[in-house]
Amino acid sequence: MAIVELTDVTKTYHLGDVDVHALRGVTLNIEAGEFVAIMGASGSGKSTLMNILGCLDTPTSGEYRLAGQPVSRLGSDALAGIRNGTLGFVFQSFNLLSRTDALENVELPLLYADVPAAERRARAREALERVGLGERLHHHPNQMSGGQQQRVAIARALVSRPKVILADEPTGNLDSETSIEVMTLFQDLFATGITILLVTHEPDIANFAGRVVSMKDGRVRSDQRRQPDDARAALARERAQRAAEQAEHTA
Ligand code: ADP
Ligand code: MG
Repeated sequence: MAIVELTDVTKTYHLGDVDVHALRGVTLNIEAGEFVAIMGASGSGKSTLMNILGCLDTPTSGEYRLAGQPVSRLGSDALAGIRNGTLGFVFQSFNLLSRTDALENVELPLLYADVPAAERRARAREALERVGLGERLHHHPNQMSGGQQQRVAIARALVSRPKVILADEPTGNLDSETSIEVMTLFQDLFATGITILLVTHEPDIANFAGRVVSMKDGRVRSDQRRQPDDARAALARERAQRAAEQAEHTA
């Protein structure tokens, strides 16, 4: 079943007298359970596409169906409802609240959804355990590494039990090893059946997905299914290489 159906979607921003054609007619179908990487140079329309996919914005023209529902012309309240029930978001900059511990950060989406306190706590704890942070429930963002903060953000995306995770450059602020670590987590989520749409400009990161969609000038330039690279194997190689470099340096 297609979870995402975009048909000839355009998005035009008006900047004073100038029209910026951010999307010039995108048609894209994504099946439930796919792991799709969206690539393309800066300005090619990736974030605009993600905002539409994530029901944060609406197309100028064209159709968008999410899980069979036509969402292209819904108002902001209806869009918010669909977002909360279906989608989880991960951003490059983590967007965690700094004065709040991991557990409370992850609970936040449930607070807005009026989930009772005890259930909020239990589900947040479960989400943090799922991303390997069960021992760090009460750490604050500034007591955690970048990779750990991104894992908290992924737990926050998971806590509302989304069908689709949308991640815009989630490894953009992380070093190579930490990036691959985060990709092992996305591959684990994919294995549980969650649909993942991930924007990146790094080919090595895109290759952990089973399908790579390349954007250029607001259009899909190529769309290829592939055998994904294994993130755990890549992580082992990366660590072995770092250890070898270290050993050489010490010798
Ligand atoms: P990417 O994420 O691939 O870098 P974007 O989707 O952010 O690309 O941007 C695509 C084009 O749309 C760019 O030319 C950008 O300047 C323009 N754009 C994006 N958002 C806005 C906006 N809110 N207002 C005006 N122009 C925008
Ligand atoms: Mg962008």
